[in-house]
Amino acid sequence: MTLDIQPNKNIDSPIGRFAPSPTGALHFGSLIAATASYLAAKQDPDGKWLLRIEDVDTQREQDGASQSIIETLESFGFMWDGEILYQSHQNEKYQAALDSISNHIYPCSCTRKYLQSLSATDTYGYIYPGICRNGINNPDIENPSIRVKTISEEICFQDLCQPDIFCQDIEHEIGDFILKRRDGLYAYQLAVVVDDALQGINQVVRGSDILDNTPRQIYLQRLLGYPQPEYLHFPTAVTANGKKLSKQNHSPAISTENNSRIQKIETLLAALEFLGQNPPNSSDFESLDDLWQWAFQHWKNDNIPKVMTKFTAFE
Ligand SMILES: [Zn+2]
Repeated sequence: MTLDIQPNKNIDSPIGRFAPSPTGALHFGSLIAATASYLAAKQDPDGKWLLRIEDVDTQREQDGASQSIIETLESFGFMWDGEILYQSHQNEKYQAALDSISNHIYPCSCTRKYLQSLSATDTYGYIYPGICRNGINNPDIENPSIRVKTISEEICFQDLCQPDIFCQDIEHEIGDFILKRRDGLYAYQLAVVVDDALQGINQVVRGSDILDNTPRQIYLQRLLGYPQPEYLHFPTAVTANGKKLSKQNHSPAISTENNSRIQKIETLLAALEFLGQNPPNSSDFESLDDLWQWAFQHWKNDNIPKVMTKFTAFE
């Protein structure tokens, strides 16, 4: 199978995406991500914004969550270009990408439990110490995971929102990382990189909690010969006690039922305020469409606060 990779369009109009995981309904933190990625792309009249459901990890998927996220986005007036891409339909593409870098990958029999029993841990959990790199440790294992060989070289990029260049030596800070899991599922890092390339994404706008994943994705882009998108990691929304708004932390879902036009406008204005865009008051807008027209005209990437996290009272 050949992969039809879209050419790099960095010099042309942005092609961005919003890529939620269907592990629960949309909450305010993910609405911020949708809003930022939408406006960064759509401030350009020729910009495109694609919707991708990241359901590659079928075990974490919650029944009905995909549909609920799609309906919530629609009710807030988001309009995506083209068909929705579901990662669960992409397995052949992910395997073709793996096959194309067969010299850089190897099977690994090490279980998570075994690796955690080793002492090499840091902020990323454990660093894979390369046990199976030159031959699988336990050849009798039925379904080894697949890891990619990393190199001791700093991978650096200048984020559009973070003030400093971000660098990571993947071999020393992460180790050879998994591209296909023992349970047969393809890893997030591989799926994201393949889909971004197949969809021609040239602008990735997402929360700063993913910033330290980016060098791994750039490394894979280089191995696979894919173009590198530009990256903008906006501040992660945290509550007063410093917790990230997330499904894991039980952030309340944004309700679409009993949610009036005014409530939706105020929710979107809170997202714009969080993103440093200084929107007018809700009384200035008669409709969601009015609000989006204001946002398309006034959005500035440069107004987003250049910090890793930012407090929000709006949950
Ligand atoms: Zn191993």
